[in-house]
Amino acid sequence: MLQCTAVTRVPLSEVLIALVTMPHGPDTPPDDFTLDHYVLCELGNHASYIDHAALLYPAENPDRPALWFFWTGTDTDRTHRITTAPWCPAILRHLRTDATLRCSFFNSHPTGHSWEVTDPLGDLIAGPAGTDDGATDDPRERHQP
Ligand SMILES: [Zn+2]
Ligand SMILES: [Zn+2]
Repeated sequence: MLQCTAVTRVPLSEVLIALVTMPHGPDTPPDDFTLDHYVLCELGNHASYIDHAALLYPAENPDRPALWFFWTGTDTDRTHRITTAPWCPAILRHLRTDATLRCSFFNSHPTGHSWEVTDPLGDLIAGPAGTDDGATDDPRERHQP
C-alpha cells in the first residue's frame, strides 16, 4: 500500500496552543517548530472522504495520546482539527528475530497499519547501495595470525 500524497500547511498558532495545552505535552513549544510548517499525510492511500492525518507531536510519555492534525480538502476548502488521539494498539512481531514494531498511527485509523504503508520517496532514498563486494574485505576470508 502506497502512502497518501496529501500535503498541507499547518496553522502554526493553533498548533502551538494545542501543543502547550495538550495533556502530558511539552511545557514550551519545541525549538524545531518553525513558521511555514508543512505536514504530509502518513496514512496509506485512502478515499477523499476520509480525513488525512499527520502526527504533530508525541506525548512525553510514549504510551500517552499524541497530538495529531486531521484535515480534508485542500487550500480554500480545507477543514481541519487538531486533537490528541491514542495510539493504535497493533504490534507486528517478527517470528524469527522476536523484534516488535508498534503501529505508528492513531487508534482505529483507516487503511493499513504503518508497516503496510510504503513511502515511495523513502524507498528511493533507501534504494540499493553500492554493491562493492570486494571479497578481501570479508573478515572470514582472512587467515588467523
Ligand atoms: Zn491522506
Ligand atoms: Zn495500526
